[in-house]
Amino acid sequence: MIMAEKTIFKRIIDKDIPAKIVYEDDLCLAFDDAHPQAPVHVLLIPKKEIASLNQLTEEDTPLLGHLYSIVRKLVKELGLDNGYRLVVNCGDDGGQTVYHLHFHIFGGRPMSWPPG
Ligand code: AMP
Repeated sequence: MIMAEKTIFKRIIDKDIPAKIVYEDDLCLAFDDAHPQAPVHVLLIPKKEIASLNQLTEEDTPLLGHLYSIVRKLVKELGLDNGYRLVVNCGDDGGQTVYHLHFHIFGGRPMSWPPG
């Protein structure tokens, strides 16, 4: 049987490769981005393998609610009292490079608009 290659994030979930994990529970994992674009740049991912936002289904609605509740918990813990930016890149035009759904949490500096 030919196995599809694991994404880099699935390898982090499976602890095949290291990451600076800042939060973990049964449903999700958060870790520092390897190439931070802000003083705080954390990635929050579901453990379920969902390639992108477009692959979400109705059954993932509770999971999404959970992810947003973890965002609120994390930003408090990370001290982002002055605000933050939450980004989901979707597809090639959206700038997605890793095809495992993830939220970028950026903080620690004012963000500009529009994004590039
Ligand atoms: P995106 O372009 O939205 O798909 O974001 C993928 C993000 O994953 C980028 O910000 C990368 O810097 C980050 N990234 C890639 N490999 C790793 C890794 N091994 N550990 C942590 N972050 C990573």
